[in-house]
Amino acid sequence: MADIKVILKDGYIKEFPAGVSIREIAYSLGKKLAEQAIAGKIDGKMVDLDQKILSDSQILIITIEDEEGLDILRHSTSHIMASAVRQLFPGVKVAIGPSIEKGFYYDFDRDETFVPEDLEKIEEKMNEIIAADIPFERLEMNKQEAIDLFKNLGEIYKVELLEEIADEKVSLYKTGDFLDLCRGPHIPSTKKIKAFKLLSIAGAYWRGNEKNKMLQRIYGTAFKSKEELEEYLRKLQEAVKRDHRKIGRDLDLFSIQEEAGPGLVFWHQKGAAVRKVIEDFWKEEHYRRGYELVNSPHIARSHLWKISGHLDFYKENMFSGIDIEGQEYILKPMNCPFHILIYKSSRRSYRDLPMRMAEMGTVYRYERSGVLHGMLRVRGFTQDDAHIFCTPEQLKDEVLGCVDLAEFIMKTFGFFEYEINLATRPEKFAGTSEDWDVAEATLRAALVEKNLSFIVDEGGAVFYGPKIDIKIKDALGRLWQGPTIQFDFNLPGRFDVTYIGQDGNKHTPYMVHRAILGSFERFMGCLIEHYAGAFPTWLAPVQARIMPITSRTQEYAMNIKKTLEAEGIRTDIDDRSEKINLKIREAQVEKIPYMLIVGEKEESAGNVALRSRSKGDLGPKPLKDFIIEIKDEIKSRR
Ligand SMILES: [Zn+2]
Ligand SMILES: [Zn+2]
Repeated sequence: MADIKVILKDGYIKEFPAGVSIREIAYSLGKKLAEQAIAGKIDGKMVDLDQKILSDSQILIITIEDEEGLDILRHSTSHIMASAVRQLFPGVKVAIGPSIEKGFYYDFDRDETFVPEDLEKIEEKMNEIIAADIPFERLEMNKQEAIDLFKNLGEIYKVELLEEIADEKVSLYKTGDFLDLCRGPHIPSTKKIKAFKLLSIAGAYWRGNEKNKMLQRIYGTAFKSKEELEEYLRKLQEAVKRDHRKIGRDLDLFSIQEEAGPGLVFWHQKGAAVRKVIEDFWKEEHYRRGYELVNSPHIARSHLWKISGHLDFYKENMFSGIDIEGQEYILKPMNCPFHILIYKSSRRSYRDLPMRMAEMGTVYRYERSGVLHGMLRVRGFTQDDAHIFCTPEQLKDEVLGCVDLAEFIMKTFGFFEYEINLATRPEKFAGTSEDWDVAEATLRAALVEKNLSFIVDEGGAVFYGPKIDIKIKDALGRLWQGPTIQFDFNLPGRFDVTYIGQDGNKHTPYMVHRAILGSFERFMGCLIEHYAGAFPTWLAPVQARIMPITSRTQEYAMNIKKTLEAEGIRTDIDDRSEKINLKIREAQVEKIPYMLIVGEKEESAGNVALRSRSKGDLGPKPLKDFIIEIKDEIKSRR
């Protein structure tokens, strides 16, 4: 056969006989690469190792070290899991089994419910299949043939999927007796799976639709080595311990009440105390940076949402149908139109700009009950929202100001690592291309000036303007949605927002939406998990607990409480007639930063026996010294 030219990584060209496979190419490049190879790419399209190459093409070897390789490994492990489940539980129907971030799942239709012990049995069976070194075979056939095949097997979900495929030819993968409809690619053989674990069982509607049957989803994960798997499982356990719903209950921070409805958060006294500190800090910082704080209503006439366009493209997310004197009102899903109305309440000139309008605005959005999650996905939440109206000359400073404020606030809360995305113009967009160019360049310049590295998501912006999205990394290295800075070339036009320029003519100002925390609810959830409930002193709901050793020092303890409260320190007292060790243990569990233990010895010296949550016993200290120290800690937000 004639030779073909293969372009490899880094543009290196090599000749092979036509019909050479990816596997053979990998071998020709080295034994180690051949061992690590699990799939390939021909001109950008992912294929199996055995795929033959018939003409000149660009070839990439995918190994287990690549992100795509790991995906293939995980997805392949899901096939093995399904195969094991079918062997162990005859009559089970299989639905879909993709790889997901950090793992995979497979959905099953089975009359009985899977229990945790089943996972061990399935893992055992999977280990057998892996040890047997069974190849993944790719089969191609006509769609109708495949439909008949799966009909015979009773696999109704596969039949349903097949019937929706437009192509005439489809591909199946076979491992031993297990047959699955799949595009591939897959690892060459089951033995490539070195480290996997099944994690949990959950209910999942077929195709995510509540009207369909509820299936059982088994989650699992796979890594390229046992060490990496162990490390991941350790972090997972840590994440379970830090779950904000659990800590929120244990520390009495918040609740969600069935009687009131799902997705609506009740902030209890302790959670509200933390929120107040965040709000005070936020307000102070905004005033310091020239923002105007406003308040707006929770509902408005549907007419307003017609002007804003929300009724056309956001209707399914809005709680509507409040009838007041025959007119429909809608709960606000966003604050923007309200801020625009405030802007428009007076004639604005260039002298009024920049106008930075901020509000802790409570909004309501419909989310399906299935996706609600503690404080993180809710139906009612308070955004730390702001809208900036400015002239073209002011734009750069304003964007820079937003980025600077975002970084300052995030660092204050202990977030020092970010993943930043700059989303640029999509195909269809509002405004002019000149506006977009200016806005994108300004966002970019601000990030560069602040020395922040970022990824550009070309074409990834929503139609009304480019934006910066900042994700923050928590103590476990997980990413959380953080600040956003979003241009808007849509609303100013819809509402006819203008200012009188120096030339005496009307102009449209630039409008920027921005939020730093996002919402108080989600940010609180994030903080709880980041600190594992052990808030730093400045945020802690109770900063110091006083513990009299006997009833004889009760009065001294009460006086200390009054003194501390007068200094603005959040304090409580544990005067139960319990052993002091028990009181200490409980305060420790409640993650209170300081414990002040007072007996007669301390009273006569005007001291407290000080204990810190993190450093343990700190010995006796004059009360006045403690006050100076803790106030300094609070003031510097530690
Ligand atoms: Zn597959
Ligand atoms: Zn807005």
